[in-house]
Amino acid sequence: MASPPLIDPFGRHVTYLRVSVTDRCDFRCVYCMAEDMTFLPKRDLLSLEELDRVCSAFIDKGVRKIRLTGGEPLVRKGIMTLVESLSRHLKSGALDELTITTNGSQLAKYASELVHHGVKRINVSVDTLDETKFRAITRWGELPKVMQGIRAARDAGLAVKINAVALKGVNEHEIPEMVRWAHGEGMDLTLIETMPLGDIDGDRTDQYLPLSQVRAGLMDQFTLEDIPYKTGGPARYARIAETGGRLGFITPLTHNFCESCNRVRLTCTGTLYMCLGQEDAADLRTPLRASEGNQLLDIAIDEAISRKPKGHDFIIDRTHNKPAVSRHMSVTGG
Ligand code: SAM
Ligand code: SF4
Repeated sequence: MASPPLIDPFGRHVTYLRVSVTDRCDFRCVYCMAEDMTFLPKRDLLSLEELDRVCSAFIDKGVRKIRLTGGEPLVRKGIMTLVESLSRHLKSGALDELTITTNGSQLAKYASELVHHGVKRINVSVDTLDETKFRAITRWGELPKVMQGIRAARDAGLAVKINAVALKGVNEHEIPEMVRWAHGEGMDLTLIETMPLGDIDGDRTDQYLPLSQVRAGLMDQFTLEDIPYKTGGPARYARIAETGGRLGFITPLTHNFCESCNRVRLTCTGTLYMCLGQEDAADLRTPLRASEGNQLLDIAIDEAISRKPKGHDFIIDRTHNKPAVSRHMSVTGG
């Protein structure tokens, strides 16, 4: 018998699970991580089989979309085994979409396998088209390798959406060029405001660029028309008349989107965060490991959803320059 759907105390239907399959990464983006990070010991991680079990329990409860993220999902050893096993839910029709968010560094290697396992669209994060700046933002990344990955993904038939974090004084003046590039290549572009998650080496007030400001600047060069397009995520989209492409805005700070939140986030250790911006969490690893059946896990998931908070309280200004939550985006999964 199908389980009852996951509905939180505010009547929101939870249909989207994001899974951070690893907190590790081959980049060290300045807004995401400190240069010197301590990662979780490997023994604390859920195995790929356990991740599959938790994802499948959520699918039984009505989750229709799963996004694998991290850290960098494609650096987790054996990750294609998980993609392959989850693809059975696409085949059965229980899942509408299986997708990933990646920094693109390993895409050339994995693009065709992703397509083979039913992945249709992916998000790739690129904050700048300038090789030197790219190195400065990611500390360890190489832009040509990422571009090669994007090409391989598109050649393999994947639709690619580019995500870019808007950074004051860094890529601020490059955004029109990024719009032209992404749209010229037939890719959507989504801009993201920096969120105060985890300690980084710098001050976030120096990085924060409100997207309301970016949008106003873009309107000097482009005609933006708001459209109702939705991908199941929090972005609000506009069509740019001059390029014909779609531009998304993820604005957790200037425009809170919590009222329509349909998602929860699972970490690689089996902790479920019901909100990206709150500390409250549920341990799913203990019930998962306590028995072979899913009864305890199901109870723990239902209990967690009954505690999903109304929303986050992100603020970034000179008086609020500490992280809203102590964990990094790479732990919870962006
Ligand atoms: N490594 C993959 C990547 O970079 O796409 C997946 C994980 S990453 C944490 C997911 C997304 O979160 C990326 O687009 C990244 O730019 C964004 N991100 C990371 N830290 C952020 C922060 N503090 N505020 C806003 N976005 C952030
Ligand atoms: Fe790694 Fe993605 Fe975080 Fe950059 S944003 S450090 S690529 S997890």
